[in-house]
Amino acid sequence: MKDSNFLKENNARRLWHPMTHPADSLANPPDIIVEAEGVEIIDIDGHRTVDAVGGLWNVNLGYSCQPVKDAITAQLGRLPYYSIFRGTTNDNVIELAEMLAEFFAPDGLSRAFYTSGGSDGVEVALRLARQYHKIRGEAGRVKFLSLKKGYHGTHTLGASVNGNANFRTQYEPLMPGCFHIPAPYTYRNPFNETDPARLAQFCLAAIEDEIKFQDASTIAAFIMEPVLGAGGVIPPHESFMPGVRALCSKYGILLIADEVITAFGRTGSKTGSRHWGVQPDLLVSAKAITNGYFPFGAVMISDAVAEVFEKDTTGKGAIGSGYTYSGHPVGAAAAVACVQEIERQQIHLNAGARGTQLFAGLQALMARHQIIGDVRGGHGLMCALELVADRASKAPVDKKIIGKVHRATYEAGAMVRVSGNNIILSPPLVVTEADVAKILSALEAGFSSL
Ligand code: PMP
Repeated sequence: MKDSNFLKENNARRLWHPMTHPADSLANPPDIIVEAEGVEIIDIDGHRTVDAVGGLWNVNLGYSCQPVKDAITAQLGRLPYYSIFRGTTNDNVIELAEMLAEFFAPDGLSRAFYTSGGSDGVEVALRLARQYHKIRGEAGRVKFLSLKKGYHGTHTLGASVNGNANFRTQYEPLMPGCFHIPAPYTYRNPFNETDPARLAQFCLAAIEDEIKFQDASTIAAFIMEPVLGAGGVIPPHESFMPGVRALCSKYGILLIADEVITAFGRTGSKTGSRHWGVQPDLLVSAKAITNGYFPFGAVMISDAVAEVFEKDTTGKGAIGSGYTYSGHPVGAAAAVACVQEIERQQIHLNAGARGTQLFAGLQALMARHQIIGDVRGGHGLMCALELVADRASKAPVDKKIIGKVHRATYEAGAMVRVSGNNIILSPPLVVTEADVAKILSALEAGFSSL
């Protein structure tokens, strides 16, 4: 490895970081992470912290998951790459498809289409939704509905259904035909409604209103995260996703669950859709499917949708999407080992228990620190603190202050993530009670530093 000075000097000069202003990397040089062990990361100066971000919501089994590492190494030796475009396949993708069909069976999903990540998966799911309607002779169904605050990756279709201006404005014009509904976000919403159940009903009414306004026969799909993640961890009321499902079914619209974060246990249930008792038509998974060790994703497809494609005799059912790395044998080997570990350890159960501990600790933190305007969580290991200048106006706190909390928390032993005026927590699902206590005490030190 190059020495520390070389790395620190050249990072900002030569490298642009995702979701970061290039000038910010110069002003606030990032920490250089060089090693990880268990649920901890170690930077180039030897500082060790609990990773309360879990990589990027993806390292659910932690950094020392030997079966996944071994599977990757063995596969690199045996078959490092071959494509699964028409005419060839490999043993891992078949074994994985069988495992995924079993894992997602309670969600009513039985076919897999592989991608190299979440943005790719969103793109595929939106395309499949349009194609499904075309095969069935409803070619006019081309529009998409989604939630404000939703995050669906950075490809142009995904950015078009994204509900956060930061990921859209600089890239407009995006795809026409995408419409956004207010999210069930109790802390801030256009209805000034703080009761989650009533808010869910208002948002559902807004969806139905938009469906009628657009004309249902022009809408292909509704895409949503079961718990809004990057938008600031916004869990809806339990009636919301079932309500969306009912509206989609009523108007012939496909429901796409974007489970890039929530699939494989993060909410305390094996999938986010199952958490709310909903069966989507399509489900996008990525991130935790390989524990973050290899870029990979799978779009899962319901029987009913799959049969429309499989029984098509007109040629319209031919899939016109695919990536060089769709079904990468190393990624698929990693995913096979990873899903086996997820099942063996039943990590969703620990996510539920430790999530309860984390959420309670964050609520206690809010009682002590006025700067915390809202605490969200309560559904597994995804939580957020929303920081405000004052609780009455709810004005977002100055960026510099969040930066200070972040730094002091890091120095006290936990890496947390800043997104807008939120601090987001999504630790590995294998954290112990002591790890969660350490995250909470580091945050306490972070807020006390102000
Ligand atoms: N959808 C959701 C819900 C996500 O959280 C993300 C990534 N955070 C994506 C899509 C995009 O996934 P990727 O970054 O792997 O392309």
